[in-house]
Amino acid sequence: MAAVHRRYDPSTAESWDAVGLVCGDPAQSVSRVHFAVDAVEATVDEALAAGADLLITHHPLLLTPVSSVAATTPAGGLIHRLIGGGCALLAVHTNADLALDGVSDTLAEALGLGGVRALIPSDIPGPAGTGLGRVGELATAMNLGDFAALVHRSLPLTAAGLRIAGDLERPVRRVAVCGGSGAGALSAAAAAGVDVMVTADLKHHNAGDHMAAGGPALVDVAHWASEWPWLQRAADLLVTDLGADGVTVDTYVSRIVTDPWTARL
Ligand SMILES: [Zn+2]
Repeated sequence: MAAVHRRYDPSTAESWDAVGLVCGDPAQSVSRVHFAVDAVEATVDEALAAGADLLITHHPLLLTPVSSVAATTPAGGLIHRLIGGGCALLAVHTNADLALDGVSDTLAEALGLGGVRALIPSDIPGPAGTGLGRVGELATAMNLGDFAALVHRSLPLTAAGLRIAGDLERPVRRVAVCGGSGAGALSAAAAAGVDVMVTADLKHHNAGDHMAAGGPALVDVAHWASEWPWLQRAADLLVTDLGADGVTVDTYVSRIVTDPWTARL
């Protein structure tokens, strides 16, 4: 946990967030670490079947306060199974959004952006470059249609796919990204003079008002797909950081798609 939290300081998480250890005993030994965006039945099954001692997820299982973790509740059932299987659960959520080598940094890298910097620089003391979302440039300009195709092939496939707002012939070079729900960063993207923003969970009025105001084009991807690439980076960094301390762990990044949208017509 200390190694994870050196990269993704829990004190930098949003005040509404619930990061950290969800269940498990810090004194327990860990040799196999499983990574997933969400703790759901399928990813918990997978972690337990693999003999994982620790499941690290991006989304907290218990984001809102609960008064029971009885096995008859969906989250309580998962917690019982994790404890029974000797697998701890650690949530690394908004502390991984803002950080260097975090969710948005990895999304920017997956799209091949250069000159990457924070879209909304953090006001929390920390390394330069931290903050919400990232801005960077493509090596060569392309039209919006080709850029959307680049996003599509750079991120894992989901049933929801991606949606585009803007003229497909519009040239794009400067790009803003915000992993997860980035509606709150739309005005910052417009102010940063980007040509297109890539994020998830945009609603009708977010997108409509933004486009009516002449804002940058939008590529709205599946929430899960925008965050999944970070898991491998987090796993690699954990192996590297623990390795420097002479500690070896096995890691596995789940490929199970936990986006709740399972089909589209
Ligand atoms: Zn998310």
